[in-house]
Amino acid sequence: MAGLLKTFVMMLVFAAQFAYASRSAVLIDSHDVNLTHFQMSYFIDHSGTLSFEEARAQTFTLSPNQVSLGTEAKTTWSQIEIKNLTDQPRRLFLHQPQAYHNRQLVFYEQQTEGYKQQQLEMDTAASSPLMYRGSAIFEFWLDAKESKRLYVKSVSFSHQWFSLLILDEDHSRRALLGIGAHNDIALMVGILLALVVYNFLLYFSSNKRENIFYSLYLISGALWVALSYGLLASLFNIYGADTLKMHLSLISMPIFLILFMMDIFQTGKHHLREHRFLQCILLLLVLNFIYGFFDIVPALRHTSSLAALMMLVTTSVSISLLRKGDPLAKYFLFGHSLFVVFSGIAVLFYKGIISFNYISSHGVGIGIILESLMLAFIISYRIKILEDIKASQDELKLLAVTDPLTQLYNRRYFYTEANYLLEQARKTRMPLTLLIMDIDRFKAINDGYGHQVGDQVIVALANLLRLNSRDGELVACFGGEEFVMLLPNTSEEKAQQRAEQIRSAVQSLSLDQQGDSLNFTISIGGVAINSERETIDTALNLADIALYEAKNTGRNCVRFSECQLASLTS
Ligand code: GH3
Ligand code: MG
Ligand code: MG
Repeated sequence: MAGLLKTFVMMLVFAAQFAYASRSAVLIDSHDVNLTHFQMSYFIDHSGTLSFEEARAQTFTLSPNQVSLGTEAKTTWSQIEIKNLTDQPRRLFLHQPQAYHNRQLVFYEQQTEGYKQQQLEMDTAASSPLMYRGSAIFEFWLDAKESKRLYVKSVSFSHQWFSLLILDEDHSRRALLGIGAHNDIALMVGILLALVVYNFLLYFSSNKRENIFYSLYLISGALWVALSYGLLASLFNIYGADTLKMHLSLISMPIFLILFMMDIFQTGKHHLREHRFLQCILLLLVLNFIYGFFDIVPALRHTSSLAALMMLVTTSVSISLLRKGDPLAKYFLFGHSLFVVFSGIAVLFYKGIISFNYISSHGVGIGIILESLMLAFIISYRIKILEDIKASQDELKLLAVTDPLTQLYNRRYFYTEANYLLEQARKTRMPLTLLIMDIDRFKAINDGYGHQVGDQVIVALANLLRLNSRDGELVACFGGEEFVMLLPNTSEEKAQQRAEQIRSAVQSLSLDQQGDSLNFTISIGGVAINSERETIDTALNLADIALYEAKNTGRNCVRFSECQLASLTS
């Protein structure tokens, strides 16, 4: 019994040891070392003043090798237990890929006597062999079967978030140079910049302010994504305090988003209550931006709360606009909700509330991309709405200048265009001729066949006139069965020929009326306008007199005015 108990206790001890070892020690048991997920522990030094000796004596908390601890963990110590199970001494590398946004990193390696320390100050990191394209790399050795404790002291400017990797030389090289090092971020920034270029082009072609606000929003977003996810550090080797100010882009982004909202929804004009809310949050954001310009670290601390408030206001405003029936609001709300969800995940991540994964650590970037694409759609959709409005305005304009029965221009349009043609004739000293046409004995047609047939006759004459007019000539219906034609660059002689052609074409026209053929004639009065002295009204009077003459001399004929203006006015 005692033997059984002893065996059981030994098994428990063994299991506990095994569990402890597998929970806390990193084991090197093969040639390939590519440790991207392992257990470590950390300790937050709130005072920020502890020495290595003091810090290592503290109680450390177990955690994965990727952590996000918020803004209150500016100085954090990580501890890694590592054991080489192989018979070979190993040369290994500890990586911290997010080093670019730290203030300082110090690597401590416990030795048989004392410890070895490698220190990296981000302000001078560009020239340090410990820093490469935004990643910090600390080299260390493990003898065969050796166990060791490694410590990393990480001092951040604002939010504390990082991951630690343990790699052999080959994997280390691949992680730093390999394909995919920052490809996802480069793709995000590329999409944003492509949208910027497209929007500037739209601005140059349409001069709309919304394109400028949207571009500035995209530029802020692209800068922040490139900065925050290490692309800027990787491309330009700039770190630490140099890049800290660029975090202002995180504050300017919502400023431009709100300006964009005010512009596309025209809140200042149509939705005053919503406009006031947007103005209030805009004011707070601008104040924080100005504050951040002088002292970025405290401004960044306010950014999360301001972002939450901003999202509340913008979401409420878009719901309100949706309820008022704005056609763009639902798309805006959808895009903005995506941004709110992903940014919300990111805020929880930066505050240390939810754990490190691709979506939580890239939440703001993913949110910006999704929202930007949706805003791009809104811009295109707005162009479509504006085009529809313009098309219906054009239709209204056309309706206002056409005669409903004949679809020819009406009297109003005739006057506008005729005055322009008269002015042209005056300038170019080219002849201009006016014809007035009236159907002969139209009352009899109406009486004999009915008003509807009368209308058909009017339409048939209108179509004939349309067919017989040339480019640049103006044909209009003056109402009823009276038509006018203005012929630019046409002498009296030519105009008489044209009038005669029209008269005889009408005479030959035959309308089918239930087996019967209906024929009709017109009389035409014309005048060669003296563009130096006459107005359209006086010319119409002269042509009318000529028409009267045509009616009096038997109808179905053309008469031209021989009157002088003087005789008309005297
Ligand atoms: P005249 O040869 O002297 O011109 O004789 P007329 O009968 O044609 O006389 P007038 O030009 O004065 O006729 C105008 C008539 O046209 C009066 C009206 O009944 C008819 N009318 C005016 N507008 C319309 C219209 O839109 N449709 C139809 N069916 N008839 C119209
Ligand atoms: Mg008439
Ligand atoms: Mg008539």
